[in-house]
Amino acid sequence: MPPQPAAAADRHAATIGGIRVCGMSDNWITLIPDNPRFVPDLIKQAQARERFAEIAPAADSVEIKVCQKVEFFDCGGNFERILCPSCRLEIPVRWWQLRMEQDYSDGFMLGEFRTPCCTKPVTLNDLIYEWPQGFARFALDAMNPRFGMLDEKYKEELERILGTNLRVIYQHL
Ligand SMILES: [Zn+2]
Repeated sequence: MPPQPAAAADRHAATIGGIRVCGMSDNWITLIPDNPRFVPDLIKQAQARERFAEIAPAADSVEIKVCQKVEFFDCGGNFERILCPSCRLEIPVRWWQLRMEQDYSDGFMLGEFRTPCCTKPVTLNDLIYEWPQGFARFALDAMNPRFGMLDEKYKEELERILGTNLRVIYQHL
């Protein structure tokens, strides 16, 4: 297994130790900057959190995460496959897991690897994940927002507030 994000481990622990009934599942919508090392300034973080809470008023929580190191934000049970961004062939999960282990030292380094299919140099963040996953130091998330997909217009609004393009991750646990 690749290193698990701390946030996901916490969520599992909270689910086991908390009041949630076995077999119930949770969903998160997580927004991360397209540049994994980018952290918006504090005022923009607070504005974006406030706006996301208005967009998702029924969510259990809307939170900001700022990590010291680049962490991996996964899509949990929504994971289907990984594709090469160059030739679109499917990347073997085992190959990806080994690169995840290799790349992680002080957080994820996001060094370049050559893809097994067409030997194109890519970072783990360049791969096409279905559903989307990604790497970041900053994330804005809503737990159980009680709607399926984030409307494109809201995504663009949050991008304007945060001053960065965003990747949307739908995590199902
Ligand atoms: Zn390829």
